[in-house]
Amino acid sequence: MHLDLFTLGVMGLAAGATISLSFTLLGLVLRGMPALRMWAAAFWLMTASGFAQGLDEKQSLLSALTGSALVALANALMVMGIAVHVRYPLRWRWPLFLAAAFLVIQVGFVVVPPSQLADALMFGAKSVVWDVWMIWVLLRRSPRDLRKSCAMVALVCGIDAAFYLLRSGVMLAPDTASQMLLATRLMEANYLSAIVCNSLLCTGFTLMLAQRLTLDLRSMARTDGLTGLPNRSAVIEEGRRAVEACRARGETSSVLLLDLDGFKAVNDSWGHPAGDEVLHHVVKVMRGIHLPDGALLARYGGEEFLLVLPAIDAAQAIVVAEDIRARVANTPALFGQRRISITTSVGVAGAAGLEFEALVNAADAALYRAKKSGRDRVEWEGSGAESLFNISA
Ligand code: GH3
Ligand code: MG
Ligand code: MG
Repeated sequence: MHLDLFTLGVMGLAAGATISLSFTLLGLVLRGMPALRMWAAAFWLMTASGFAQGLDEKQSLLSALTGSALVALANALMVMGIAVHVRYPLRWRWPLFLAAAFLVIQVGFVVVPPSQLADALMFGAKSVVWDVWMIWVLLRRSPRDLRKSCAMVALVCGIDAAFYLLRSGVMLAPDTASQMLLATRLMEANYLSAIVCNSLLCTGFTLMLAQRLTLDLRSMARTDGLTGLPNRSAVIEEGRRAVEACRARGETSSVLLLDLDGFKAVNDSWGHPAGDEVLHHVVKVMRGIHLPDGALLARYGGEEFLLVLPAIDAAQAIVVAEDIRARVANTPALFGQRRISITTSVGVAGAAGLEFEALVNAADAALYRAKKSGRDRVEWEGSGAESLFNISA
């Protein structure tokens, strides 16, 4: 079966319209994904460009320029969509500048008509430049967790670029460029490659969206919504892993369990929003402290925080705990015009050979003692700390 240009053109338009519609419908379901809207718009523009050129059998100047302008805009939208998706801060001006540059060349070709060969080479070069730019953003500017789906889209861009390079090579080969039959075959190959690449691109973008959604959901499930810290299940998993790694090397690890003092009274006196603000404030204070490498701070419960310090012994951990206690006590939270003072009790545990759960239990026991001894104190359990004199308030 031989697919002539007309049949391929109709197939291309049908595929383009289907892909564009699918992405638009997907955008209605998956709200809040700007990249998806940009890709849907890009696919519509590509399809519209095909219509603009296909409807006009005489291939007038206007339809050629309109087609080029739509494709240039579609390419800009595609690059921007990829950049937005991988959160690479690309400014609109650069893809728009490139789109405008290609359009100017196209207008130049109207004023001074080039040979068919030069026109085709220019078209190929334009496609390769966009492809290479997309590949660069996909492979060099995407986060590691999105790399797999980005690599798949980069592969599609690579196939597209390889096609245009091959096509240019064939056209530049001696005695072939002038052959009408070859020109027609190349045009047909062009149409076919556009259909295949756009379909693969559609699948690739869908995979990118799926991977981004999975990643975001996983990260939300492990993050505390109020403070932005890792939540209890995240710190248990990561803390266990870090402490186990230290245990395997025979190193000591420590944990700090912190509980704000009299926090219920803050809620009762100033209201829940004030309590939330105090939690924010305490996290800000703790984040401002220079913590040892590998430290893992998490919200362990309502007004309880857990700090895991891998490869840090109890004596060093007590120093960190005392620093946190003092800074929290000396820095009141601001709620509107009101200054709300807050203190924290800290339980510290650190010993070589103890598992993560055992360390947390020991820190909990120490915290209980700190509360019983009057609050705003650091208490500890563990080897190496006994030699320190009582540094609590
Ligand atoms: P203690 O010194 O013994 O720790 O006293 P406390 O008042 O801090 O302890 P208690 O456990 O009685 O109170 C904890 C309070 O923390 C109770 C709960 O309403 C409040 N809380 C838990 N999570 C949040 C939150 O996300 N926001 C606010 N505003 N309050 C919270
Ligand atoms: Mg508590
Ligand atoms: Mg408390």
